[in-house]
Amino acid sequence: MDVYGLIGNPVGHSLSPPLHEAGYEELGLDARYVTFEPGKDDAIRAVEGAAALGVSGLNVTIPFKQDVLDAVDADPLAERIGAVNTVDFGPVVDGDSEASPDDPDARPVGYNTDAAGVTRAFAHHDVELDGRDAVVVGAGGAGRAAAFALADAGADVTVCNRTVSTAEALAADVPGATGTGLDALPEAVPAADVLVNATSVGMESDETPVPAELLHADLAVLDAVYTPIETRLLREAADAGATTVDGAWMLLFQGVEAFEIWTGETAPVEAMNAALRAELE
Ligand code: NAP
Repeated sequence: MDVYGLIGNPVGHSLSPPLHEAGYEELGLDARYVTFEPGKDDAIRAVEGAAALGVSGLNVTIPFKQDVLDAVDADPLAERIGAVNTVDFGPVVDGDSEASPDDPDARPVGYNTDAAGVTRAFAHHDVELDGRDAVVVGAGGAGRAAAFALADAGADVTVCNRTVSTAEALAADVPGATGTGLDALPEAVPAADVLVNATSVGMESDETPVPAELLHADLAVLDAVYTPIETRLLREAADAGATTVDGAWMLLFQGVEAFEIWTGETAPVEAMNAALRAELE
């Protein structure tokens, strides 16, 4: 049996176990997905311990996404984003789980699948990104992943963040991007084709980071927030005639991407989506 899991602190209400286990069940894979809650300074020991136990793959969430960089060989995108949310331990050989069985010093490989979560969520809704103007609101973990994902897909990215210096620092890392404060939204959003809310504004509340009057019918809006599924931003975007993509799609596709890295199989997206939405309803 293959064991996959999630490390985070806290991980109590994670949606990843039902999401992944629906995939194993659909494909008939002998695998389980479990959650682990190491101490806040124990990210590296947790990854090393998982390797020793023959765990096949780990997802990584707050507060460990940066710390885990020191325990893995990060793929180039994860290195640029500066955060890992997926660790692949590679095949288990003679009881040892190693990324490369030929190299005794090999470390597990770290990926950031939040970026693919953004691009695959848009692709699933037939939203073109290449050559489009994109606004990312927020410059934390989700904002960094979204900004790199959109720029790599060919979009011109403007990052707007409450703390301007964080937006500027992110934009300096992302090819062609501009970093500004939230005061740039009234100019940037009406001219944009794509909008991503990567702040926590709207989570468990009826607030929005983008005033409704800026939204328009030529916009595609992804809200990373998925509690509630229909945030105020998405409700007002739909009222304006925009294409809306809820945060569960991003969550789904970051999991789908990890599933495919780990198993080498094409993920059963419909079954995984149904399991996720059943949990969120
Ligand atoms: P984070 O690293 O803590 O970043 C939070 C961001 O929100 C920062 O840019 C922060 O701005 C901004 N922010 C917080 N409160 C604000 C306010 N009142 N007004 C304006 N901006 C505010 O968090 P994260 O990991 O990026 O997560 C952000 C959201 O995305 C969360 O709701 C999370 O659940 C969601 N998320 C969803 C997925 C998914 O798969 N759907 C994946 C990852 C995250 P400052 O820099 O000024 O503090």
